[in-house]
Amino acid sequence: MNSVRTRYAKSIAYAKRIAEVIPGGVDSPFRAFHEVGGDIVFFDRAKGSKLYDLDGNIYIDYLGAWGPAILGHCPDAVVKKCQETLAKGPVFGAPHIYEMEMAELVIAAVPSVEKIRFVNSGTEAVMSAIRLARGFTGKDTIIMFEGCYHGHSDATLASNGHQSSSGIPDGARAATILAQFNNLNSVEDLLQKHKNQIAAVIVEPVAGSMGVVAPQSEFLAGLRSLCNQYGALFIMDEVLTGFRVAFGGAQNLYQVDADITCFGKALGGGMAIGAYGGRKHIMDRLQPEGDVYQAGTFSGNPLTMAGGIATLELLADSRVYSTLEARTAQLFAGLAKAIESHNYPVQLPRVGSMFSLVFAQKPVQNFQDSLTIDAQTFANFFHYLLDNGVYLPPSAVDAACLSSEHSEAEIDTTIEIMTRAFKYCFG
Ligand SMILES: *Cc1c(COP(=O)(O)O)cnc(C)c1O
Repeated sequence: MNSVRTRYAKSIAYAKRIAEVIPGGVDSPFRAFHEVGGDIVFFDRAKGSKLYDLDGNIYIDYLGAWGPAILGHCPDAVVKKCQETLAKGPVFGAPHIYEMEMAELVIAAVPSVEKIRFVNSGTEAVMSAIRLARGFTGKDTIIMFEGCYHGHSDATLASNGHQSSSGIPDGARAATILAQFNNLNSVEDLLQKHKNQIAAVIVEPVAGSMGVVAPQSEFLAGLRSLCNQYGALFIMDEVLTGFRVAFGGAQNLYQVDADITCFGKALGGGMAIGAYGGRKHIMDRLQPEGDVYQAGTFSGNPLTMAGGIATLELLADSRVYSTLEARTAQLFAGLAKAIESHNYPVQLPRVGSMFSLVFAQKPVQNFQDSLTIDAQTFANFFHYLLDNGVYLPPSAVDAACLSSEHSEAEIDTTIEIMTRAFKYCFG
């Protein structure tokens, strides 16, 4: 293990120091490798498909910053526009035209979004969308799906998915009830049982925190019509899928409209962003037009909007999505070959460039299935990759994300290293 200590010497030294001042050494728990074990790695910079750590190690990156780096890290056009904007002032706390331009770009890309508000994170987007749904319908209860992740607000952490928390008031827990992903009957049962109490059904159109789980055909359309039937709003949390699985998002891919849609991650080109939008008559319930409050010192700030505008302009070129599709297909073809020839217990779910290596005997369709995932073998796999210069999300259940900057040669290298990693894990 001497060589490992040398490889990560600086990171190991800083890991001790940072843990004295920041709980667990991280500002977001999954960064701490708590699932996969081992010392955290500190990064110095990121460019294109690559991450560079403090010890000088280079990684082909499949974390993609948990989603934002769809065009790779630091795309030149985004950096340039952000630098110009930064020099003019990153925040005014007053109107400017970048937020208008950004709103127009998102609205043009997503048919169900007629008006939009920008906030600073996916969590804020979801939290605000839920408040808006409650204000609009005059009802309190939210239906969400076990195992779906919607950020860290009380309302959505009330479920016991792979993320759970103490410190959530009983009232918040009681106001969120759980259905099963890919199971329309479980939703209809709840809508029946809680008749006239449901403000909204919120779903990740492609689940990204129990492996990647695609919606079965008719699941999203079924949710849409159940919401119509029972007078609940349909919220699609596209924080991860938005502008990732297709231009616009999963609702464009699956042709299902939401009442309110949440965005984040890939929308901002690396700037801290969240957004929620929907039908005019719903969005106009927000203050100052209406009666539902949402604000934010940094909401829609020029720097974030500049990052978003530059990103959406690049994403509007459909070649980005054909590259994302081709590279992810190449990766999966190579991995499928290795997995099938040895019958390794690994599933390969993906939707576009959002993918997962699921260490389980059978495909995962819902949260219950995801409990069969072998986190220990994944941890061994993760560390083999880390030591060989490939960075995956440090979690057996969270989606990995490829970028349009990954080259064919880098994908081949990744296939080679992962194939060796399977041998190392399974013999
Ligand atoms: C990441 C994520 C969130 C939370 O977004 P943050 O920017 O981390 O607050 C919410 N919903 C989904 C589907 C996500 O993937």
